[in-house]
Parts: sequence; structure tokens; C-alpha cells
Amino acid sequence: MHENIEIFLNRCRACAAFQENMEKMVELFCEKNVSEMFTNCTSLEISSHDYLPSRICFQCYENLTNLNKFRQGCLNSDRFLREQV
Ligand SMILES: [Zn+2]
Repeated sequence: MHENIEIFLNRCRACAAFQENMEKMVELFCEKNVSEMFTNCTSLEISSHDYLPSRICFQCYENLTNLNKFRQGCLNSDRFLREQV
């Protein structure tokens, strides 16, 4: 197990930056669909048991939700376009 596990608690899983206030972070494995959104958008495998940070900062959460919206839009467009062929 990692010796500095406490340090990881306050680090963002996405940008790895240290956050002073943990309450200003979003839990990846509790909040609705956040871990799924993260994996879909980054192709990174994450687990609540991998001893890596399990939260992301608000800035990264905002980026992730925007990226997810873009991705979802592309998937919908792709489906629509393929139906026209
Ligand atoms: Zn971040």
C-alpha cells in the first residue's frame, strides 16, 4: 500500500493538483455517474480500490461535464448520420 495515502485524499484524480478544501471536491464513486463519465471520456480505468485519488476538483468536474456533453452530442450525431445512409 502507498505510504502517503493521506496525501492522495486531497489530490484531484484528473489534474493531480492538491486541494486545500476537500469539501470543494467531487467524489468519483458516490456522485451519480461521475466515475462512468470519467472512464468514458478519458478511457482510464479507475477503481475505488486502486489506492489512487477518488475525487476530482470542481474545475476538472466542470471540464468533464462539458467533455461528456460534447461526446454525447457526437454519439447522437453519428447515430443520426448513419441512419441517413
Ligand atoms: Zn483537477
